[in-house]
Amino acid sequence: MFCVRCGRSDSELFKGLCRDCFLEEYSILSIPERIDVNICSHCHSKLVSGRWLDEGLPEEEIIYRALEDNISWEPPVEDPEIELEITQRRGSIYRCHVEVDAEVLGRKMHQEYWTEVRLINTVCPSCSKQSSGYYEAVIQLRADSRRLSKSEVETADRIVKRTLSRLSKRDRLAYLPRRVEVKEGVDYYIGSHRSARKVTGALKEEMGGISMESPRLMGQDKSTGRGLYRTWISLRLAEFRKGDFISHRGQKGAVLGFKASGVNVRDLETGEIRTILWGEYDNIEVIARAGDVKRTTVTSRSPTMIQVLHPETFEPVDLEVDSRTSKLEIGEEVPVIEIKRRLYIIEDDLQE
Ligand SMILES: [Zn+2]
Ligand SMILES: [Zn+2]
Repeated sequence: MFCVRCGRSDSELFKGLCRDCFLEEYSILSIPERIDVNICSHCHSKLVSGRWLDEGLPEEEIIYRALEDNISWEPPVEDPEIELEITQRRGSIYRCHVEVDAEVLGRKMHQEYWTEVRLINTVCPSCSKQSSGYYEAVIQLRADSRRLSKSEVETADRIVKRTLSRLSKRDRLAYLPRRVEVKEGVDYYIGSHRSARKVTGALKEEMGGISMESPRLMGQDKSTGRGLYRTWISLRLAEFRKGDFISHRGQKGAVLGFKASGVNVRDLETGEIRTILWGEYDNIEVIARAGDVKRTTVTSRSPTMIQVLHPETFEPVDLEVDSRTSKLEIGEEVPVIEIKRRLYIIEDDLQE
């Protein structure tokens, strides 16, 4: 066998050529002279075979990735070392230099290439939805039979913001295009159904409450023919707040806090802590408010009885000692609550 170009017959052949002739013709890589990249001018995501990817990259990084994506290596190259450089920028056109060092068929080679990357600015669908104020759900935060307090609104705002910022890494529509404060509470407009449900879950985790979803048909998606729904989520917080006193199926308790599953209470008689599930909400009655708590003094005590002054009449009142009150000393100040003409010594951890 001999080389079809120079006729040598003492060398191994590659595609019909001797090593020298083959390497003379050989390009280590190929790269188009011009590379177009569609990028979103808002979020910098780029369009790759119909999908928008890699949001938020700096422009230079987009250029380098476009170069890497458009290089194809020609066999038999092994372990090439490549250096990419943007040498010039005119508007959205980047002139780029590609240098490569490689060992090919046992010989060290160095080659250089030039190309141009053009960034074509458009707006991706998510950004165009965002800029048009698009939303799929509204969370209506309210409280039962009362207005939301300022601190509840602040807490809710913080939870909504924190949850959306966490979700936005995966859900481009996890954003809040509108927030409307109304007399009774706050309406949060949320980009996607999915993120609205997660935000509602996060609100309930910390603030409790009962939620209800009502989807409404808004029209039809022209491209898929499917119905377009918008969801209204009503989240209603309890009428009572932390520190208030409630009665549930004959048991009186102090409200310690809320969670997604129910209301945490400490029983006024036994001191036991339990959770009343939200399904039992209609069986709960408010019997005193946190503001009704008064302070008074322990005046005497025996192993079984403890005496305090009634905070309004200053009459001495005898109470049975239990495990919580057995450690109180004469002269000590204690918080008390009067419910149905009965005084209870309570614990000092209920204030907001
Ligand atoms: Zn040859
Ligand atoms: Zn975008």
